[in-house]
Amino acid sequence: MTKTVGIIGAGIGGLALSIRLANLGFKVTVFEKNSYAGGKLSELKLNGFRFDKGPSLLTMPFLIDELTNLQSSKHKFEYQKLEVITNYFYTDGTQLKASSNIDDFAQEIHSKLDEKKESVLKHIKRNEFYFKTTEDLFMKQSLHQIKNFINLKTVKGILLSPFLGLFSTMHKKNKQTFSNPKTIQLFNRYATYNGSNPYKAPALMNMISHLEFNLGAYLPLKGMHQITNHLVHLAEDAGVEIKYNETVEALEIGSNNRINYIKSNGVNYPFDIVASDVDIRVLYKHLLPCSFTPTKLIQQEKSSSAYVFYWGINKEFSALGLHNILFSDDYKKEFDYLFSKQFPTDDPTIYINITSKYCKDDAPEGCENWFVMVNVPHNKNSTIEYAIDIRKNVVEKINSILRTNIEQFIVTESTLSPVDIENQTSSYGGSLYGNSSNNKFAAFLRHANFSSSIKNLYLVGGSVHPGGGIPLCLLSAKIASQLIVDRVKK
Ligand code: FAD
Repeated sequence: MTKTVGIIGAGIGGLALSIRLANLGFKVTVFEKNSYAGGKLSELKLNGFRFDKGPSLLTMPFLIDELTNLQSSKHKFEYQKLEVITNYFYTDGTQLKASSNIDDFAQEIHSKLDEKKESVLKHIKRNEFYFKTTEDLFMKQSLHQIKNFINLKTVKGILLSPFLGLFSTMHKKNKQTFSNPKTIQLFNRYATYNGSNPYKAPALMNMISHLEFNLGAYLPLKGMHQITNHLVHLAEDAGVEIKYNETVEALEIGSNNRINYIKSNGVNYPFDIVASDVDIRVLYKHLLPCSFTPTKLIQQEKSSSAYVFYWGINKEFSALGLHNILFSDDYKKEFDYLFSKQFPTDDPTIYINITSKYCKDDAPEGCENWFVMVNVPHNKNSTIEYAIDIRKNVVEKINSILRTNIEQFIVTESTLSPVDIENQTSSYGGSLYGNSSNNKFAAFLRHANFSSSIKNLYLVGGSVHPGGGIPLCLLSAKIASQLIVDRVKK
């Protein structure tokens, strides 16, 4: 008989799992509390401007192609590889472009920062080694099944672990490798790709730069929200029912430690299998009886959050590209504030993303859609004390580095705070990527993609294994679907 699956949350992980399972013959229903899908990967339309609300950088797009190729669909997912990945700006006026061509990038670092070209090439090579040695062990399988530790690739990964930078930090390794503090800052920045602190995260995390430089940085032709639209199309074509405006209130457990019902908007829906794409803290604190709570796992340090300004700008800035970073002067202080003081500094690093550089429909003629983001701590209470200050600091820094008066060009504005992120996606404290990777054991302290105490419960999304960010959420769905298939076959 066809098995039924209920998935809570139509974020990237939930949608990807629904597509995989529907293509394997399961009857899948997704419950989404919002009136739209995508969770953090949603969009905002404002007075003629379109903004991607959350993610702006796509890596490993082949994971989306894999989903497309599971079925014959009329829907195509089209994306382009970026020639220039990021434009970097430092307060002393230094500017450089990170090209996707590694040789050109190393040459640029050499000419602008007087760094040895070989140091850059060696660093990227080492990061590739980190990635290739650990990807099978940490990203493509469950870390919570003994059988996965007894294959050749895993044994090789374990034997090579002393060479994987687990006992150093990203910053220490970057400081050993480079002489110019600006180069160190540039490579330390990759810790922010999973909301971590480069002064604490193991050097292994330097592998994140490998994704951009060796595997490439991409943008869907219609912007990042096209990912959500595409996954919704695939899910619907595969027969998945997505129920919007359905807030799951509880998971009703039977005497056999199985979930019998998903309770949503007061109605009980029976399912053979249940999967959750919601933050594990919400799952255990609000949807399940407290006796099931894995206290240690849900108390792990969370990743950072973000404060975002969406600005419609009635001018074009030729110095800027799609991804732009305006660095702070004191990176160490910035991360101490983020993770220890739990408050943003007054000199934050600013990220500006402008999709209208590529997607011309995203802004009116002669205008640009600025997504201006600052890393901030995940929020422990429901108010943002620094909202006014952060805007002032961001405006001042942009004015000083770009030599402009940005206020006079802002024609429309909206914001997204950690509190908004939590309200809109239920992500604890508005953290962007689930747990931080500030500890060398972080990979082992993420929740598995299955529950060990509730027999028919599976977990996907940024707060569980293998972690946050679009590629890892897609991989969580791949691992969970394999676990479900293996168990159903038994
Ligand atoms: P989420 O997006 O967390 O969605 C969970 C869904 O569950 C939501 O739709 C929510 O409404 C629903 N839900 C919650 N509770 C319930 C309930 N009780 N009942 C029903 N539905 C419920 N990643 C990158 O790869 N690149 C980037 O450049 C990048 N930048 C980012 C910038 C920002 C500002 C943000 C916010 C995130 C960014 N990320 C980035 C991270 C990335 O967006 C996330 O890791 C990923 O989208 C999370 O997907 P998810 O599957 O965990 O689901």
